Amino acid sequence: EGTATVIDGKAVAKKIRDEITIEVSRMKESIGVVPGLAVILVGDRKDSATYVRNKKKACDSVGIKSFEVCLAEDSSEEEVLRSVSGFNDDPSVHGILVQLPLPSHMDEQNILNAVSIEKDVDGFHPLNIGRLAMRGRKPLFVPCTPKGCIELLHRYNIGIKGKRAVVIGRSNIVGMPAALLLQREDATVTIIHSRTKNPEEITREADIIISAVGQANMVRGSWIKPGAVIIDVGINPVEDSSAARGYRLVGDICYEEASKVASAITPVPGGVGPMTIAMLLSNTFTSAKRIHNFQ
Ligand code: NDP
Repeated sequence: EGTATVIDGKAVAKKIRDEITIEVSRMKESIGVVPGLAVILVGDRKDSATYVRNKKKACDSVGIKSFEVCLAEDSSEEEVLRSVSGFNDDPSVHGILVQLPLPSHMDEQNILNAVSIEKDVDGFHPLNIGRLAMRGRKPLFVPCTPKGCIELLHRYNIGIKGKRAVVIGRSNIVGMPAALLLQREDATVTIIHSRTKNPEEITREADIIISAVGQANMVRGSWIKPGAVIIDVGINPVEDSSAARGYRLVGDICYEEASKVASAITPVPGGVGPMTIAMLLSNTFTSAKRIHNFQ
């Protein structure tokens, strides 16, 4: 009975932040430019406010300047578009992020389309996604969470080329771009979604599984081929009376079972989660480098 290597996303994310800190200060010293990230938050969702706060903290920790606009829940789409356009034109801003989800009276597509693709650090602009999907094209930015998944594989020297990869979930922000990235890395990719029949027969063929579903402990040990590598994006609250808040967070993968079958696995929390913000910082720095032609 094996015990999987724990893929320590928290440690890798810290290493990446340290690398960015050094690069950011080198940039400031040599050309006097400080990378800037602008975040637009609309409405008063608690989880969104927490994400925005964490992003700001992360920026501070590496020396990236952060700009924040908070708009009321009942703001008009025009007001959001005005903020976007202000940041598009602001030379001290190199990355623009519109915190999702937006209030339901707004057209998300319209707003994401308005972000300058040169500053689209979330990688959600259809031009960036389109280029990600096309052979021979290069997106300016890749969405942060799937990029973080691939970065973990790279940093643990886990080969992707020629492997069978299965992505569970096909959302625009995680599953779909994760599948495109794996394919760009020469994996043979299968996507499982809510209409897939007998998903466990498909996952059992996989050398690499990336799961982004949002269902606690859905993937059991018996779904996994011995020696497979498991990247668990899911963040799901489950009741736990022994926890201070009355709940704890688990992934889509039943960790207890999977860690006995897999060769490597990300924990939840402490796996993909910290990588997402690290990739956002990395995208923002890359953007500043590109805009100022800094090597
Ligand atoms: P969505 O709800 O947008 O997408 C979920 C996907 O899973 C859909 O494609 C859906 O299929 C599929 N799905 C749902 N139920 C099943 C099922 N029973 N079997 C197979 N497929 C199923 O979620 P997100 O992609 O935004 O997020 C997924 C998870 O990742 C969540 O737990 C979220 O909290 C977490 N997350 C974590 C991040 C991080 O930084 N670590 C960042 C973003 C998300 P269909 O398309 O058919 O509906």
